[in-house]
Amino acid sequence: MKTLLKNARILTLVNDEIIEGDILITDNRITKIEKNIKDKADKVIDCEGNLLMPGFKNVHAHTAMIFARSYADDLPLHEWLFDKIFPLEEKFIDGDIYHLTKVGILEYLTSGITFAFDMYFHTEEIKQASEEMGFRTTILFTSLNDKVDFMEKKVLSNRGDNLVNYCLGIHAEYTTPIERIREIAALSHKIKAPVFTHVGETESEVQGCVERYGKTPLKLMIEEGLFDYGGGGFHCNYFTDEEIELAKKHNFNIITCPCSNLKLASGIAPIAKYQKAGLNIGIGTDGAASNNALDMFREMYLVSTLQKVTNKDAACMDGYDVLKMATLGGATALGLDECDVLAPGKLADIIMIDLKNPAMQPLNNIKKNIVYAGSKDIVKMTMINGKVLYYNKEFFVGEDVNEIYRKAQEVTDRLKG
Ligand SMILES: [Zn+2]
Repeated sequence: MKTLLKNARILTLVNDEIIEGDILITDNRITKIEKNIKDKADKVIDCEGNLLMPGFKNVHAHTAMIFARSYADDLPLHEWLFDKIFPLEEKFIDGDIYHLTKVGILEYLTSGITFAFDMYFHTEEIKQASEEMGFRTTILFTSLNDKVDFMEKKVLSNRGDNLVNYCLGIHAEYTTPIERIREIAALSHKIKAPVFTHVGETESEVQGCVERYGKTPLKLMIEEGLFDYGGGGFHCNYFTDEEIELAKKHNFNIITCPCSNLKLASGIAPIAKYQKAGLNIGIGTDGAASNNALDMFREMYLVSTLQKVTNKDAACMDGYDVLKMATLGGATALGLDECDVLAPGKLADIIMIDLKNPAMQPLNNIKKNIVYAGSKDIVKMTMINGKVLYYNKEFFVGEDVNEIYRKAQEVTDRLKG
């Protein structure tokens, strides 16, 4: 199956240039990026001068949490989590995560997100939903019930061109016994695999760890050898200078989730400082329960503007750097080197940005337009693994979208009941 995307502007992210040309895709991979490709194709899409670029990588997600979107807002974090979210999660039955995950994936497609680093229960259901819809996901193991042998087998089966892969993790220091942290560190050493976790999200989390262990959480986990083979942390709002140094030494990736941190009043990650320290940075939406949108455009806007205002320096964060965090930064964090940039041989995870949308005009600086004036409204196409899953506001995911909504509503009503 050959698909030809014609008459495009292309930001490959191999370099910073925007070129004019066509992209030829054979099955799930890019085979040519050139001017005026003459090859015969089964499907030809005229891009009419719009921009093709790599899809956004949402590197922190709890996709199925759409059930709690706008269900328990405007509450203190502890009350929100313990009184509202946890009781609903206790009512999950088989199939719930599968149905809920599908709605989250639909929303990702509308925001040009072609990959999610998903962390939730019932990992087999996340896998099934992702594969059926053609969506690329890495599933993070964080349940204390996941057996070491099972995780080892799954992580060793990873391949760059799988739609679904796996990664080692713990939920967070404050929810994980030290014996489990050591068990995961030992497995990471055995199979030389990276580990990811929530860390430094709130001040009370850091204080609690200091009370328990006499040290801050990232320092504790690094000393336990959890990140000797890389990995990273979600949120990272509160790191000491010593932890930043240690993070750099361990190739520890920062995953920032500004919307969730603002809405739960957790804090603001010092991203400009991390960037200066040379740390790799990716961006995540976190779950819809705490965001409440699964939208990379809002996240990018906030990553940049929050740094400007907290540093009282409008020049401290460049919009194009943030666009690269949302794409390349996320890909680097997860080792997604088969779908990081647009080049022959790479997987075809491509989005089309509608430059004819008034918010994209005039074309002074397309990259900064996307970060500072962009929204889901400018996403014209989302292609994953060579398949167009979203085009001109229509979904092509192999099933009726209204049926997906109906099932997720049914699950949600039962959980709330
Ligand atoms: Zn999270």
